Amino acid sequence: MPKILSVNAGSSSLKFKLYAMPAEDVVISGLVDRIGHSDCIFTYEYQGTKHKSVQAVQNHTEAVQLVTDALLDSGAIRDKSEIVGIGHRVAHGGRDYTQSTEITPVVQQKIDELSDMSPLHNPVNLLGIEAFEKLLPDAREVAVFDTSFHSTIPSKAYMYALPFEYYEKYGIRRYGFHGQSHQYIYSEVNRRYDRDFSRKIISCHLGNGASVCAIKDGKSVNTSMGFTPLAGLVMGTRSGDVDPNILPFLAEKEDLSAADVRQILNHKSGLLGLSGVSNDVRDVLKAEADGNKRAELALQVYVHQIQTYIAAYTADLGGLQTLVFTAGVGEHSAPIRERVCAALGYLGVKIDADANQDNDLDISAADSRVKVLVIPTNEELVIARETEKVLDS
Ligand code: ADP
Repeated sequence: MPKILSVNAGSSSLKFKLYAMPAEDVVISGLVDRIGHSDCIFTYEYQGTKHKSVQAVQNHTEAVQLVTDALLDSGAIRDKSEIVGIGHRVAHGGRDYTQSTEITPVVQQKIDELSDMSPLHNPVNLLGIEAFEKLLPDAREVAVFDTSFHSTIPSKAYMYALPFEYYEKYGIRRYGFHGQSHQYIYSEVNRRYDRDFSRKIISCHLGNGASVCAIKDGKSVNTSMGFTPLAGLVMGTRSGDVDPNILPFLAEKEDLSAADVRQILNHKSGLLGLSGVSNDVRDVLKAEADGNKRAELALQVYVHQIQTYIAAYTADLGGLQTLVFTAGVGEHSAPIRERVCAALGYLGVKIDADANQDNDLDISAADSRVKVLVIPTNEELVIARETEKVLDS
């Protein structure tokens, strides 16, 4: 069976999953973490056995060397030629890429140019692409963009009310991210349930980064992230929506540069900034239980923002059939799901306390008008499916 490798390259990590297609069987999966350090941790799982090693890994090329060695040494592949395609997660596709696309030198250059809009992600996505190009030169590479799934958002939802020339000059508009995850959530709801539950979906991806997406008949019609992944919900360290005038105000008062402000909004805000405790929901919940008032406030703001988006997107969809929670917090945090849903009774959302506590797939109460689901996301599978589709076309 032809094999496709899904790759998600971050600034200091590289996640991979090798699929036998079209069966979608996972052959081997793993993670190189702490790239650039002398104590980089490499873990992978093959045939039910987990392997772990710690070593110095200077850069992404060395990380990819480690991965390709493991693919061969473990027996997951006998020869590199078994891997026909490599799908790369790429954060920003801008206006040019509304679909996944085979990587050529021109596409690489475009991804590089789009780094302006996604400085934290596109450059490291490119490093992954270049490293695999060197080490698996015969495999075709495909870029699967976070933004593509949201290309169906109508202009009334993607335009900002700024002077029009900036849209024309710089492409300033809402793009949205986490597209692979929201696309997977739609495919799972559609696979498991009939049209009464799959036509109007709100998908809440609550991880360290977080976004909500309104999905109508399989298409994204609105999403909370914007021109960059900073907009929308309160995140681990990202602010989400703030009044834009706060930025020049702060810059003047505190004598901050644009880079300083960007750093504050992306790395010092969100749950961490508000609570002063941590970016991790678990730590903030614990601090709240210990009587920390700022932690309590941070969680109230976090939950309130999710509720606000769910209400707004119900209006966008003209109703709500299914509400889905996914990613780290969405999949594992019963108290957050409970708090979010507690104020949504007027939309017909009611959850079953025991099912919620157990992280069941279906946590809706028997008399809930809206189906409420917990679905583990699988961005890697969407990347593999998209790669197969591009290579077959
Ligand atoms: P990323 O957004 O980096 O891809 P994840 O989707 O895995 O990461 O989400 C990571 C976040 O999930 C952690 O920062 C943590 O806040 C949260 N998380 C993981 N498990 C739990 C849990 N049991 N309860 C609450 N939050 C959790």
